[in-house]
Amino acid sequence: MGTYDAIVVGCGISGAATAYHLRREGLQRVLVIEKGPGPACGPTGHSAGVVRMHYSHPILVRMAMESREMFAAMPDMLGRDGGFRPTGWWLAMGDNMIAQVRANLEMQRTEGLVTELLGPESLADRSPWLNPEGVAGLLFEPGSGYADPVQTTEAFADAFAREGGEIRFRTPCRALVRREDRIVGVLLDEGPVHAGVVVNAAGPWARALAASAGIDVQLRAVREQDAIWEVRAGRPMPECSFSTTIEAAYCRPLGNGRFILGLGFPKPYHDVDPNNYKTTIDDDILSLSFEKNAARLPNLNGARLVGSYASLYDVSVDFYPYAGPRAGLAGYADCSGGSGHGFKIAPAITRHLARWITTGKTTPEFAGLGHDRIAAGALFAGLGGNRG
Ligand SMILES: Cc1cc2nc3c(=O)[nH]c(=O)nc-3n(C[C@H](O)[C@H](O)[C@H](O)COP(=O)(O)OP(=O)(O)OC[C@H]3O[C@@H](n4cnc5c(N)ncnc54)[C@H](O)[C@@H]3O)c2cc1C
Repeated sequence: MGTYDAIVVGCGISGAATAYHLRREGLQRVLVIEKGPGPACGPTGHSAGVVRMHYSHPILVRMAMESREMFAAMPDMLGRDGGFRPTGWWLAMGDNMIAQVRANLEMQRTEGLVTELLGPESLADRSPWLNPEGVAGLLFEPGSGYADPVQTTEAFADAFAREGGEIRFRTPCRALVRREDRIVGVLLDEGPVHAGVVVNAAGPWARALAASAGIDVQLRAVREQDAIWEVRAGRPMPECSFSTTIEAAYCRPLGNGRFILGLGFPKPYHDVDPNNYKTTIDDDILSLSFEKNAARLPNLNGARLVGSYASLYDVSVDFYPYAGPRAGLAGYADCSGGSGHGFKIAPAITRHLARWITTGKTTPEFAGLGHDRIAAGALFAGLGGNRG
């Protein structure tokens, strides 16, 4: 196999997109290693795939806007549709969120984001499917929507492979290989493979992988549970992704009258062993997420349960992702900590990360996403949790 310019561990959205961008930035020999059987076989494959751009910090607004452009351009950029549907995104909120959301909107508009905040007087007209009780404002982002996380990841992986990149599935990386202050490669079952840089895009397994070389990634693996419901015929529902901060719940259309329902922040986060956790939904969460969504979207009543599952969030200390190299450690970069909202921002984050890796330079604001922010005491704070 020889020596690689870069090895990326993990073929979720972060790994596949990083590998693609590293090739585009000019690295010749790039290898992706994935322990599972194909792209997006981990948490990415269970993602609800909601694409929205409302964030509290300019860096993530920019990453979300740039990613959104890439979602829309995928057929041209990658030669394949990533399943992006720009149907829009709604966010219902109570009085307690209005001030912070208005401040966010002001900042977002200076970034060029098109977004609208409706008052209670417009709800009946614009959102007839919504129970308006207690809704102080309804935010609408017309350019947002949802994408198919498997299709998107496959699109990046296929484009990477077409351009000469190498992917090995069913290939667990057992450890990172370290020589003093440099990561020099990875340890596979057949032995070590060397690389100029190793990108740790192992999602909830990133912490253990980094620990194999004495690197600390401050990351939790927590269960996230969703269910798919089919609404009875003739009952209007939003065609867009919808979130409510009042009930802390979300609903994402799947087509054919089917919707993914889940719980939003705040909610209990249970730490689990990513190699040994319950992958079926808990009965109480199944009922609670249905009840909370149906309280706001009453046409859900009478819906039929189609399926359900539990997967994993890889949660960083401040719910913002980790992207970038480390001070004092050569040959290594983090790309983890999606924290339950990492799909929608991954296309752009990985592009900036790839540029940082290949040129050794980035902007001060993107550098703020590095794991070194923890030691520097420069954590992010926003709407809380994966709301950003
Ligand atoms: C139920 C659910 C709903 C979500 N909804 C949304 C949403 O609506 N919008 C949004 O933006 N985000 C959402 N997210 C979050 C988003 O999906 C994740 O942040 C993102 O998919 C993480 O991608 P990743 O590539 O970083 O990690 P992962 O998908 O975890 O990929 C890591 C990969 O690394 C592999 N791997 C790990 N260790 C090794 C090893 N040692 N050797 C080889 N391979 C290894 C794993 O098998 C895995 O395939 C959701 C997540 C979940 C679970």
